[in-house]
Amino acid sequence: MNINGNIRNFCIIAHIDHGKSTISDCLLRITKTVPFNFKKQHQILDDMDLEIEKGITIKSHPIQMEYNYKGVKYFLNLIDTPGHVDFSYEVLKSIHVCEGALLVVDASQGVQAQTIANLYMAMKNNLSIIPVVNKIDIPNVNIDSVIKDVIKLLNCNYSDVILTSAKNNTGIQGLLKSIIFKIPPPNTYKAHHSLQAQIFDLFYDPYKGVKAYCRVWRGAMHINQKIYSTCFINKFYHILELGRVGFSKKIYNKDFIYCGDIGYVLLGVKNIKDVKMGDILVSNQLHCNNKKLCYYFFTQPKPMIYSGVYPIDRKKYDYLMTSIKKLRLNDSSFSYEKESSLTLGFGFRCGFLGILHIDIFKERLKREYGIDILLTTPNVSYKIYLKKDPNNSIIINNPSKYPNNKDIYKVKEPYIKASIITMILYIGDVISLCVSKRGKLLNQNYITNNRVELFFELPLSEVVYDFYTKLKTVTKGYSSFDYNIIGYKTSDLIKLDFYINYKIVDAFSMLINKLHVYSIAKKICNKLKILIPKHQFELPIQAVIGNKVIVRENIKPFRKNVIGKCYGGDVSRKKKLLTKQKEGKKKMRKIGFVNIPSTAFISIINDD
Ligand code: GDP
Ligand code: MG
Repeated sequence: MNINGNIRNFCIIAHIDHGKSTISDCLLRITKTVPFNFKKQHQILDDMDLEIEKGITIKSHPIQMEYNYKGVKYFLNLIDTPGHVDFSYEVLKSIHVCEGALLVVDASQGVQAQTIANLYMAMKNNLSIIPVVNKIDIPNVNIDSVIKDVIKLLNCNYSDVILTSAKNNTGIQGLLKSIIFKIPPPNTYKAHHSLQAQIFDLFYDPYKGVKAYCRVWRGAMHINQKIYSTCFINKFYHILELGRVGFSKKIYNKDFIYCGDIGYVLLGVKNIKDVKMGDILVSNQLHCNNKKLCYYFFTQPKPMIYSGVYPIDRKKYDYLMTSIKKLRLNDSSFSYEKESSLTLGFGFRCGFLGILHIDIFKERLKREYGIDILLTTPNVSYKIYLKKDPNNSIIINNPSKYPNNKDIYKVKEPYIKASIITMILYIGDVISLCVSKRGKLLNQNYITNNRVELFFELPLSEVVYDFYTKLKTVTKGYSSFDYNIIGYKTSDLIKLDFYINYKIVDAFSMLINKLHVYSIAKKICNKLKILIPKHQFELPIQAVIGNKVIVRENIKPFRKNVIGKCYGGDVSRKKKLLTKQKEGKKKMRKIGFVNIPSTAFISIINDD
């Protein structure tokens, strides 16, 4: 058997924008994986349209590079990862299949919240870590103080820290050397065991069916092999094609993928139900069930916020369903189940990791599947204790399923522990922002003499919408934010409904804290007043709690000039015409169909 001990599996982790994708580009060029003068308008590995447009990495991107060092050929499997907190599941998956990680820190930004969060994830998985201080070309930055922070964080030596400028291509050679010497090669002593490979990413190819990216833990995979999935589903497959993970759409067919390596396989299945991210593939059904390997795929990720998803064109419901299923293959971090709404028809209740995730989901459906969707106001999930059974809770993440207030004993909502790293100068502003969001300062930790890490306890529902933008504003961009869920706490929750022309519009219903009810009700009524076009009758908009109206706005009707044709003449005739018009309008209102433009839904939801 041809086992290659010269493999290095490593991922690049960092806070968002610290230069992971740009360093990946340098590595691709220097190893001649892409030509040195490769034309680029964007980061090479960010190949999704959305990634290019937004300038961020959304998906992890694996790629294999070959590099000759002193006459020895090495195979370097690199995985570029996203840095935004919403996509930390992608980072976790990458860490799981690697032996090492490059921890990139921007010399002008220093250590940030995701630097620390991702580092801890990598340490927990026993990865060898290579610290990289990037962007050293930027003038007037205090590189030494950043290096000191990194040394303190990792407990390493000065000589361990690699200094790079991905922009000017400096330090990359040294980085490669470090990758080869500091990251251990994968264990290959199980190369002669029977196959055990793990799926860590999935794509749907309309021509070839499901394409799975795998890490081979034991044995080897080869073409025409019969294999089985064992952990999540029990299916049988026939390997039609396999190969190394290459750049772009290029195909690098191989006959084998050996123990320790990463590659792709075509499993010959078209039905997306037949494969699952994280599953273990084996050649002998008796040798299976390595539950430890699947651990992360079992426990992660948990959706944090939920929203109703409806096709704008109601006839496209079935198409939306197939599109969601295909997208889910590639992004296992959202959940979905069927729901229906009086106003919007049939749709789904989907769970997401954060607001950016919702945004990306919506855009991907539009671009990759050509379907436009409407999203209802997002909310977190609540634990509701009913009077008839006060010891047990039910989980509610859909306002339409919220029980009657009089039946509720208490409600609990999810809380997070947030870490915010900022300049000492902004401590006051950050604290007042968090307090206005019902937060509580837990403690603070001075990282350097001008930077501090603040820990807050905050309700999740307060941070999922516009918190991050507000934080950036009050700190002039000098802050970073990370969080994890710590549990549930009692909440003053209220269900707020909106009635238009005395009819409830269930798509606008929302669950919010008592504290914000009035201001949000007022804001939304005002917005609807502008967004809904005038009708021929007066249109009331009401914000309602239970059966109590708390805000009301009216949209004035069109006024058709029915007396326009009466030149001068008798007053009583004019009066008669106006009364007739009034009665006609009354009737119309009763049966009146209100046209709510889809822009109204979109706008209400885009705002907090
Ligand atoms: P990522 O979010 O960590 O993947 O970051 P990117 O690789 O997308 O880079 C973020 C921004 O930093 C981009 O505008 C890059 O051009 C820029 N950048 C990356 N490396 C360097 C560097 O070494 N020097 C300078 N001046 N800019 C850099
Ligand atoms: Mg990136």
